[in-house]
Amino acid sequence: MVNGLRPKNLDEALEILSKQQCTVIAGGTDLMVQRARGFAIAPAFDKPLLFIEHLSELKKIYIDDEGIHIGACAILTDIIQNETIPSIFKEMIEQMASPPTRNMATIAGNICNASPAGDTLPYLYAVNAKVKLKNINSTRIVNVSDFIISPKKTCMRSDELLTDIIIPDKEFEHNYYRKLGQRKGMSLTKVSLLAMADVSDGKILDIRITLGSVAASIVRSPEAEKYMTGKDTSEIKAVTETILGKYNNLIRPIDDARSTAIYRKKTSLRLIKDFLEKIS
Ligand SMILES: Cc1cc2nc3c(=O)[nH]c(=O)nc-3n(C[C@H](O)[C@H](O)[C@H](O)COP(=O)(O)OP(=O)(O)OC[C@H]3O[C@@H](n4cnc5c(N)ncnc54)[C@H](O)[C@@H]3O)c2cc1C
Repeated sequence: MVNGLRPKNLDEALEILSKQQCTVIAGGTDLMVQRARGFAIAPAFDKPLLFIEHLSELKKIYIDDEGIHIGACAILTDIIQNETIPSIFKEMIEQMASPPTRNMATIAGNICNASPAGDTLPYLYAVNAKVKLKNINSTRIVNVSDFIISPKKTCMRSDELLTDIIIPDKEFEHNYYRKLGQRKGMSLTKVSLLAMADVSDGKILDIRITLGSVAASIVRSPEAEKYMTGKDTSEIKAVTETILGKYNNLIRPIDDARSTAIYRKKTSLRLIKDFLEKIS
């Protein structure tokens, strides 16, 4: 039998984690699938389950001087419906799973699962999002790109909870997101590309490009972004091959049940090219 713990508030949850090892469960939409053992057989858990999805302290979405704070247990539906969230991020989340799953799934669950196919991650990497990690005594703030170490592995300690995600309060002028899957809805990502740019008087002021599902973690090239920043958009066509070359080595996909490495590589480069054509 699995022991389930349902703390009254965040402090109680952190106190429990300071005393014993638990498996944290939020919406359970990743965990229950990963631990499934077959039809009519209860999933297997070797540690007590710590339920956190009901904790109101972890559901708030608000803005302060640091940026937009999204509570760890904000469900995807609440993020889509919140007016402070940048529109491209909402557009990305609207393409995840299906309405019933989005009513259960939390943003922190998507981050902590640390999958290169996690669909919130291309945005969080692109905007240098941070996560707040708390244990009973202290709080630390870590970049999402440092928090995720490798597929399924994060730097979170066993006595910590992820409590907040912090993103800048900023909309980009040009936004481009393509998620390619087996079908339009309820589909896990084969390749995704997020590109955002600010252009003024024909000059690129800021540009961010991230790719999901095409390497062990989200792909972003500071070198390529630096190369493009300051260029006139009319110059981009002439240097497109140079830009694609900077991404080529970083895109290291695998063959798996969803797609092939060759499809993922070719499609990624085509999507980058398509975005560059759209802004030039
Ligand atoms: C039908 C279906 C469709 C899906 N479609 C998509 C999709 O299109 N795109 C996509 O990216 N994902 C998809 N998913 C995966 C999943 O829904 C998301 O990753 C979701 O955001 C996970 O959130 P959760 O709250 O359910 O996480 P859980 O399953 O509760 O937890 C996931 C992991 O995070 C840990 N965790 C959760 N919250 C915290 C916290 N606050 N602090 C510390 N650790 C924590 C848990 O211990 C666990 O290891 C799909 C899943 C299903 C079942």
